[in-house]
Amino acid sequence: MGLTLRGLGASPGIIEGPVHLLRWEVPDVPHRVISDDEIPSEIERLHDAIARAKDRLKKVRDRAEQHAGQKEAEIFEAQILILEDHTLLYSVDSLIRQNQCAEWAFNLVLLEWRQHFARHTQAMMRERVADLTDVQIRVLTLLLGLDDHDPVDVPKGANAVLVTHDLTPGLTVQLDREAIAGIATDAGTRTSHVAILARSLGIPAVVGLRDATRRLRGHERVVLDGSDGVLVVDPSPEEIIAFHRRAQREQVMEAELRTLATLEPVTADGVRVTLRANVDLPEEAEQAATSGAEGVGLMRTEFLVVGRTSMPDEEEQYAAYVRVVRAFGGRPVIIRTYDIGGDKLPVGGFPAEANPFLGWRAIRMCLDQPDIFRTQLRALLRAAMHGDVRIMLPLVVTIDEVRQAKVLLDEAARELDARGVPYRRDVPVGVMVETPAAAVAADTLGDEVDFFSIGTNDLVQYTLAVDRGNANLNSRFTPLHPAVLRLIQSIARTAREFVIDVAVCGEMASHPITAFALIGLGLRQLSVNPRSVPLVKRLVRSISVAAAEKAAAAALRTRSAAEAEAVLRGPLIEALGAAALEG
Ligand code: PEP
Ligand code: MG
Repeated sequence: MGLTLRGLGASPGIIEGPVHLLRWEVPDVPHRVISDDEIPSEIERLHDAIARAKDRLKKVRDRAEQHAGQKEAEIFEAQILILEDHTLLYSVDSLIRQNQCAEWAFNLVLLEWRQHFARHTQAMMRERVADLTDVQIRVLTLLLGLDDHDPVDVPKGANAVLVTHDLTPGLTVQLDREAIAGIATDAGTRTSHVAILARSLGIPAVVGLRDATRRLRGHERVVLDGSDGVLVVDPSPEEIIAFHRRAQREQVMEAELRTLATLEPVTADGVRVTLRANVDLPEEAEQAATSGAEGVGLMRTEFLVVGRTSMPDEEEQYAAYVRVVRAFGGRPVIIRTYDIGGDKLPVGGFPAEANPFLGWRAIRMCLDQPDIFRTQLRALLRAAMHGDVRIMLPLVVTIDEVRQAKVLLDEAARELDARGVPYRRDVPVGVMVETPAAAVAADTLGDEVDFFSIGTNDLVQYTLAVDRGNANLNSRFTPLHPAVLRLIQSIARTAREFVIDVAVCGEMASHPITAFALIGLGLRQLSVNPRSVPLVKRLVRSISVAAAEKAAAAALRTRSAAEAEAVLRGPLIEALGAAALEG
C-alpha cells in the first residue's frame, strides 16, 4: 500500500506519473567569512552562477514566448536585465571584497533591493519585487548547489505531477501542459484561484495537502485523484488498477451527463432554471458553450492579466471578449471588470499588503486607476456590439462605487465617440454581492443596478471570517452556515422587490447539495464551472422547487452548517440517489 496524502479535490481527473517537486522559495543562506585569498575565486563563482541563471532564464523566456506569447515572455526579459544591472553586480562584488561569501553577499543586496522597491512610490517599481525574488531564488539555488526545481525542466511527455507549496501566477505561465499532467499543492482550497485555474485548464488538481512538499523527495511515482482529493505515493499494483477503474467509471458518468447538454433545465414541477457557465479564460469559451450553458454568468477578466508584467490593451481585451461573446452566439455574457488583488495578482503585483483580501483590490483598485478601468470599459462597450454583453462590478460595498463606475463608463463612451469607434451604450451594469455589507444593504444598491450576482466564495469568506485559501480552515469554510443562507435569502428577496435579476456565480452553485439549497432559497439563475453544467442540470431536472423550498426553509431554521446539510441531504437523496451527491 502506498502512502496516501489527503487534500481537497480541486479539479477532477485521475492521473499517474512521477512527482516533480518545486520548492520555489528563498533558501536559508549560511553566513561564511572568506579569506582575502579566496576573494577572486568567490567573485568568479558569483559571476558563473549569474551567467548560468541568465542562460536558464533565456530558455524560459523562449519557451514562454512559444507557449504563451511575447507579453508573457517579457517577465523573464525583465529578470535577465536585473542580472545585468551594473549597480547590483558592483554592490555584490564590493561585499565579497569585504570578505563575505558570494551567497551571503548576493542575498543581502537582493534583500535591500527588494525592500527599496517595495517602498517605492511608483507602482511600476513596486512591481519589480516579485522579479527580484525570482532572481534571488534562481541565483542562490545555483550558488548553494541546491536541487534545481525549475518547472521548465520537466521534459515533454513526462506526465508529471507538479507538487508545490502554492501555484503563483508566475509559475502558472511556465507550466507546459505537455509535461505537467497534474498539480498538487500544500496550500489552497476549492475556491482558491489555483483550483479555479486548474479547472479552467482541465488539469487534475489536489490542493490543501498542507505538507506534501515536505513529505515528498521528488521523482516518486504517484496517483493523483483530483475528484477525491488524494495523492497516493508509490501506489501498489492493486491500487493502480483500482484507480484506473475509477477513472473509467468517471469517464462513463461524464459521457452520460453530456447527453443532457441539449435538454432544458426545468424542475420536476415545471420551473425553469437558467444555467450559465463561469469562464475564466477566453480559450475556454467554445468548450463551455458546448456544455449546455445558456450564456456566461461570470467571465473572470483578471485571468487576462495574471502571469503578465503589463495590463492587456484595449484591442487585446476587445478580441478576448468578442471571442467569448461569439462562442455563445447572442446569449447573455456577463463580464466582470478586473477583480485584481487578493490572491489574483499579476506578476510583479501591486504593493504587498498585510490583508490583501481586505485590501486595495477589485472595484477599489479600478476606481483609483481610472486609465486601466476606462481601457477595460471601452473594450467592453465595443464588444457589446457583437452580442448581449453585461458588465459586472466586483466587491462592491457601497453605492458610491457603482456611481463612480458609471461616470467612468460615460467617459469611456465619450472617448470612443471621439475616436469614431462603434460601440453599444445601453449595456446593463450589475454588481457582485459578495460582502456582508452588500448583502445586508442590497436595497441601497437595488435601484442603481440592473442585476445582482451572488459571489458565494467571497460571501462565505467575509461572513464567516474564514480565509478561502487557507487549507487549515477548510472544514470551517461552510457555505451552508445559517448566516450565509439567511444572507442569500435576503439578497434574493431584495432583487425581487427591485424587479432585477439575481444569480449565484460562486462555487455554491456548482455542487448538488448547495445548488439544491439555492433553488430552495428562491434562486432561478445559476452560473457554474463548465464541467458542472450537466451535473447541475441533472439536479434541476430531478428535483421539485416545492421540495427544495421545504428543505431550504428547514435548513434556515437549523443552528449550524452540519445540521443544515443533514436536513438538505434527505430530500436530495430521495430525488437523486446517494451517488449523485458527489461532485
Ligand atoms: C465569488 O467570490 O464567489 C466569485 C464568484 O468570484 P471569485 O471566486 O472570482 O472571487
Ligand atoms: Mg469574489
